[in-house]
Amino acid sequence: MRYFSTQGSHETNLVGAMLKGLAPDGSLFVPEELPRFEPAEIRGETVAEVGTELLALFFVDSTLAPELEAICHDALNFPIPLQTLQAEQGDLAVLELFHGPTAAFKDVGARFLAAAMERALPGLDPGDARPLTILVATSGDTGGAVAAAFHRRHGMRVGVLFPKDQVSPRQEHQLTCWGDNVRSFEVDGNFDECQAMVKVAFTDPDLNTRQRLSAANSINVGRLLPQVVYYAAASLWHHRAQGTQANFIVPAGNLGNALGCVWARAMGMPIGSIILATNANRTIPDFLATGDWQPRPSIQTLASAMDVGDPSNMERLRHLIPDLGELRQVVEAYPVEDVAIRQQIAKDYARYGRAWCPHTATAFWVYDQLPQTRREGEPWIVVATAHPAKFDNIVEEAIGETVPVPPELAALLELPARSEALPARASALAQAIEGW
Ligand SMILES: *Cc1c(COP(=O)(O)O)cnc(C)c1O
Repeated sequence: MRYFSTQGSHETNLVGAMLKGLAPDGSLFVPEELPRFEPAEIRGETVAEVGTELLALFFVDSTLAPELEAICHDALNFPIPLQTLQAEQGDLAVLELFHGPTAAFKDVGARFLAAAMERALPGLDPGDARPLTILVATSGDTGGAVAAAFHRRHGMRVGVLFPKDQVSPRQEHQLTCWGDNVRSFEVDGNFDECQAMVKVAFTDPDLNTRQRLSAANSINVGRLLPQVVYYAAASLWHHRAQGTQANFIVPAGNLGNALGCVWARAMGMPIGSIILATNANRTIPDFLATGDWQPRPSIQTLASAMDVGDPSNMERLRHLIPDLGELRQVVEAYPVEDVAIRQQIAKDYARYGRAWCPHTATAFWVYDQLPQTRREGEPWIVVATAHPAKFDNIVEEAIGETVPVPPELAALLELPARSEALPARASALAQAIEGW
């Protein structure tokens, strides 16, 4: 399988697309085609088994093809349960993507990318013994998932940059508790400055002749592919049990998670409607309503991991479905304000006895706004992107109780944390990498 940049000027293979992340023309890599299946053709039961079958064609002709099964079992090794909500009148279930090491769905993509890159490295340039240095700038969630995923993997090391005093205490702990091949840099600046430092490092010719640098950001095709898998698996479980297509409601920020759902549907998986829930950053709902693509600066909301004003993966979505009318047939999108997020967390805790993180709450709010005929006449799966204990201050205020910390997260919070202070200068980062 070949991978092309959406602007069409660059072509590479799977490993090339994973190592580069972004295409040299600044656009994103997409596979040359999406394979199509009949639901009955996929036999696997677990997410890892479904992944091995579903992703095989994406791995054809790659040095990683013989490793796909091992990558799926290595990366997709935690539960992704589909839980029915009993108290509900309609047929409603929640797909819980938050049982990985850092308790959010980004663990899926980060673990898959790490497992794949670890296996791709030895075949790249066997004479080159230098480690691959992965740099990530993070405003909270991504950095922890990437650090956890690459921790103690061979031939690779991770530098995480985060803005001093701008991440929550629990988030900071998840960025700084790793050690070994992970270094955490507390930058005396904001997130944009962290990101600018990483950008300069990637384009610094001296640094790049001496060091092998790579990125692991969320636009990497190696993070997108496994996100197709849990939609395929959940829709197949539902289809095998009930013989119908499930509709999905997905919390959306940069649109990577939701794009997995759209790709799974385009690949023939039994998926009906796809509804995106955004927070008050309403670039996507506005675009679907008006046809005008108007990226804008992001605004801060309670669902902070979705504070995106210029969602990158829209480029991939429009590449797949260029016609606006057709796109509107496949996806709908609704914005959700902070007041509604708070109210929804309280309401669903009372109704189902379940506490949602603020991101997940946007999707449940959208579910509640659907016309009753639609809610009760069709099966719905709402996607839960993070464990509520990650956002304990917001959730506990809304429900008036403490949220129990799940064992995986508790274990992380027990680990000693350590970070290195770094001034917000690209030269300081270069120096740290050279002296590693
Ligand atoms: C990143 C994130 C999102 C948004 O996902 P996108 O792929 O950027 O749309 C939603 N919820 C949580 C908890 C996240 O960490």
